[in-house]
Amino acid sequence: MNAPNASGWRPAMGEGGEAPAILTVSGDRGLTLEEPLIFELGRPGTCGVDLDEPRGEIAPGLARFLRAEPPALPGLTEPETVRHYTRLSRQNYAIDLGPFPLGSCTMKHNPRLNEKVARLPGFADIHPLQPQHTVRGAIGVISELADWLVTLTGMAAVAMTPKAGAHGELCGLLCIRAALEARGDAREVVLVPESAHGTNPATAAFAGYRVENIPATADGRVDLAALTARLGPDVAAVMITNPNTCGLFERDMKAISDAVHAAGGLVYCDGANFNAIVGKVRPGDLGVDAMHINLHKTFSTPHGGGGPGSGPVVLSAALAPFAPLPFAMRGPDGIIRLVEEEDAPQHHPQSFGRMAAFHGQMGMFTRALTYILSHGADGLRQVAEDAVLNANYVLRSLEDVLDAPFGAAGPCMHEALFSDEGFAEGFSTLDLAKGLIDEGFHPMTVYFPLVVHGAMLVEPTETESKAGLDRFIASMRSLAARARNADPALKSAPHLAPRRRLDETQAARKPVLVQPQ
Ligand SMILES: *Cc1c(COP(=O)(O)O)cnc(C)c1O
Repeated sequence: MNAPNASGWRPAMGEGGEAPAILTVSGDRGLTLEEPLIFELGRPGTCGVDLDEPRGEIAPGLARFLRAEPPALPGLTEPETVRHYTRLSRQNYAIDLGPFPLGSCTMKHNPRLNEKVARLPGFADIHPLQPQHTVRGAIGVISELADWLVTLTGMAAVAMTPKAGAHGELCGLLCIRAALEARGDAREVVLVPESAHGTNPATAAFAGYRVENIPATADGRVDLAALTARLGPDVAAVMITNPNTCGLFERDMKAISDAVHAAGGLVYCDGANFNAIVGKVRPGDLGVDAMHINLHKTFSTPHGGGGPGSGPVVLSAALAPFAPLPFAMRGPDGIIRLVEEEDAPQHHPQSFGRMAAFHGQMGMFTRALTYILSHGADGLRQVAEDAVLNANYVLRSLEDVLDAPFGAAGPCMHEALFSDEGFAEGFSTLDLAKGLIDEGFHPMTVYFPLVVHGAMLVEPTETESKAGLDRFIASMRSLAARARNADPALKSAPHLAPRRRLDETQAARKPVLVQPQ
């Protein structure tokens, strides 16, 4: 490791020393700061604030709480602390820094207007345990957002409490189970197509169902004939992602729903890709019974690094009575209230129970409603059109240098799918993705969906400009040429990042979470 310089950081080097000179097309340079741990920077006895020594006697009852040793805190001044975290933040990549083309994740810009509204004291400073009559406005926001989601999807109701897409899937399946049990027809199997997002089979298994795969056709869609052949009295539900993870619209969705319903089952739609069809298609018209919506994808609320997502689930009339508590409902006096356990026997008797302690992710609700109201119905339709237009621009700008397995079948939806076919012997999708880091971009989704070899799934979203897409495309074209022509420097990319290639298996299996002494 290179020695830290006077200010505590050291330039990152290539494995042998100096970073090799790599031409980047974008002109960006990777982030090359090497930042020590805060414990390596700190010195005992230093503190960011001046604290007086304790005075007087310690009350006898408190003596047992006295520390025998000082806490092992890193000693840093305030400016040292601020700079440490700012330098760390500059080693990271963020949607506020550049495009984040992760397919399926819909990493779109988070409008600052959303943030402003979410920070209004009337929303930010309330507490979930406040009596309902003191937070009528906040409940009004939940209800207005719920109305929009129901209208945009053409469904009967919406459960607002699920905290992310996968949580919404679980909520939907629990509604389905409750509905089937209510008619005395518990079933055991959930059918999931090959191209499904990993959360779908995981959710079905978690909910206690046996998961069976449905194959895809050669054009990347659910095989309707195979699905229909498998339907029967043991099938509780099918889970279909539409648009699917190949970036294609499931054109047979209505036929699938009709067949599932005729066989007594219910239809779950993974709506994480609603971004591509919002304002254009209402899933309710396609026979969907339950669908989660990722507010943190379609409606521009932030993805919180495992933090605050939000996954409301819209429900058909068949499933609405089983929705979880609390449930927003307008009373005869015109006032919207959240129905909780004490009122449920009277107002919502068939609810399967609760998904969360409180009413859901309020900060995401305010942001999503702000986004919806600032676009209006027409603007939301344009969101879908622009997302699809941008993805097709990427698809058509790259298909002469990257294999696009379904490119010949026509336009894609909101994401463009490529494979590693045509790369030189020994060169892989991983090499190209790592090369993107040197170009100053976050890599796209790789090796997903599984139905394509060496998949690269690019989702630009509607918030990228044409100029931004052109820069990304130029970098991708350059990297594709290097992968085809076996440029050895690509095999060891990234060269311009604080870390090179990590052992991803070891990092997941044996993470080092404490500082070695
Ligand atoms: C993101 C995503 C999910 C899961 O959503 P989370 O909010 O991450 O739990 C499920 N399905 C698809 C297709 C997705 O893109």
